[in-house]
Amino acid sequence: MSLQALSLGLYVHVPFCANLCAYCNFYKERPIKSLVQSYLLEIGREWERWKNILSRRNISTVFFGGGSPSSLSCRDLETLCAHVQPILPQVTEWTVEVSPTTINLEKLKILKEGGVTRISMGVQSFQTDVLKYLGRRQTRMQVYRAYDWIRTAGFNNVNLDLIFHLSFADFKLWEMDLEETIHLNPEHISTYCLSFERSEGPFRRGYYVNEDQEALVYLRTWDWLKNHGYRHYEVSNFARDGHACLHNLNTWKMQEWVGIGPSAASQWNRRRFQNTNNVHDWLGEEKINCTDLSEEILCADCLIFGLRMREGICLDALQKRFPLVDVAKYIPLWQQFSQERLINVHKNQLTCTDKGLLLVDALAREILSYAPDN
Ligand code: SF4
Repeated sequence: MSLQALSLGLYVHVPFCANLCAYCNFYKERPIKSLVQSYLLEIGREWERWKNILSRRNISTVFFGGGSPSSLSCRDLETLCAHVQPILPQVTEWTVEVSPTTINLEKLKILKEGGVTRISMGVQSFQTDVLKYLGRRQTRMQVYRAYDWIRTAGFNNVNLDLIFHLSFADFKLWEMDLEETIHLNPEHISTYCLSFERSEGPFRRGYYVNEDQEALVYLRTWDWLKNHGYRHYEVSNFARDGHACLHNLNTWKMQEWVGIGPSAASQWNRRRFQNTNNVHDWLGEEKINCTDLSEEILCADCLIFGLRMREGICLDALQKRFPLVDVAKYIPLWQQFSQERLINVHKNQLTCTDKGLLLVDALAREILSYAPDN
């Protein structure tokens, strides 16, 4: 596949949050005015550098994530959105993440008028006890009010992020969250299992994994959302027909993307770039770490991320894309996975079973052990 044939996404990391949640591993800072102004100037410069490199490429999706882009003021949001205006005619989907406590109707109107097509709101939970436990400042009423504003501003493609966690042994609280979410009728729902292991502070302590219970919560969630008309298209993601997130699909299909802002990553021209996750370093000179990607490693990543999607991965297309890789060498692995009922192989199309999806991280480790560059 020629590089020109790969689609290209743009990710902008906005590393500011009014409230720093203890469980969150994304890079973020408090929005101090002078830091935000320096950040906006540097985003302009970094974007110009990439634009020159990519001058003959079309960017098809844009994603402003964070942190929380909605923690920026109206004026700063306008400044950030202005960078996208010259490429807007090529863009088919432009998502902006918002939080219920920092978004308002004025900001949403600015985003809508700027050309944003999709809003992703971090709800996490509607239950006061859960929100308190997570250290989230929002209330249920703020979520409902923000959702109303999103619809009033004219957005018809909305994602709601939800978190479930295993310390709530009773599925009831999670069921209540799912019910309230479905009642709002968003086009897209993302569900994440809070991993205390990877978190900081109080969330590190006392974590006990009950794998059977975790599996049960996942399976019941998948069934529940399917029964309410949401297609389960990736391990954690569910969408009404025609509303899967194109930007994330582009990443999971190992196409190409440019990431700007502190902690953002890019993958382009068989190289991976990682910006420093410190805004002060990023504002200085040394900011990018670059790694060359071999066909072997890209092919392994295609398999790993391909298996996370319900549609799976076509081995013929994979071999065509990576002619230097002997894709057949994975056959013993597919046989082993099939025997363990982790995957189905049909006409060279690999898809995970429910059991495989539950264990997809373990499958990824096995796949990586076959890639010689690791
Ligand atoms: S608002 Fe979102 S990005 Fe910011 S700290 Fe909380 S979870 Fe992380």
